[in-house]
Amino acid sequence: MDDRDRARPLVGVLALQGDVREHLAMLRAAGAQAVAVRRPAELHDVDALVIPGGESTTIDKLSHIFDLFEPIKERIAAGMPTLGTCAGMIMLADHLHGGTADQETFGGLDIVVRRNAFGRQIDSFEQELTFVGLEEPLHAVFIRAPWVEKVGAGVEVLAEVAVDAAREGAAGRIVAVRQRNVMATSFHPEIAGDDRVHRFFVDLVREAGPATATETAAQSREQG
Ligand code: GLN
Repeated sequence: MDDRDRARPLVGVLALQGDVREHLAMLRAAGAQAVAVRRPAELHDVDALVIPGGESTTIDKLSHIFDLFEPIKERIAAGMPTLGTCAGMIMLADHLHGGTADQETFGGLDIVVRRNAFGRQIDSFEQELTFVGLEEPLHAVFIRAPWVEKVGAGVEVLAEVAVDAAREGAAGRIVAVRQRNVMATSFHPEIAGDDRVHRFFVDLVREAGPATATETAAQSREQG
């Protein structure tokens, strides 16, 4: 990414399953270039990646079938800015509760995530949230969503459900986090007609600077 492109970084949306189109539209609204990623060569070209909501067990299986699992895991570990929403948050968790026996994640966030956490008690719901760095509250849509049960020392909590929330069981739960270049939300910021979470992420991508796979690999070799 040279200076000219830095203003409009190329962000991929993992397009194996889930709400891909909505993320592409939001990323464009937020000032990025956005492309669907289905092949390793497409992953190689992007500066950053969004992992959409959908069904994490399916995204896990398909990413293996499409030879994307290891390349994505490696690029996240090498510092590629990544946003995961709902099932995407599950895919970014280093530790998963409530997954299927053989379910794997890309990792990248030092968090414990519980899959279908709200689902067992209140399933889908909508909630106003205070989100770090955003002035006005965010209208968040949760669909059989995970929550974050525990965060490691390097993880910043960006949003939690207010303690006085009417939804019993949801109150106080962590629903958005960031660790360096990787961020995740339990909810679906792509469907509420509000591009502020995508703008937050695109700013993070701009700050992270050049991040093609080749450059990143070279940087990690230099750092030994
Ligand atoms: N429950 C889904 C899963 O386990 C996530 C739901 C969603 O992404 N809306 O992957």
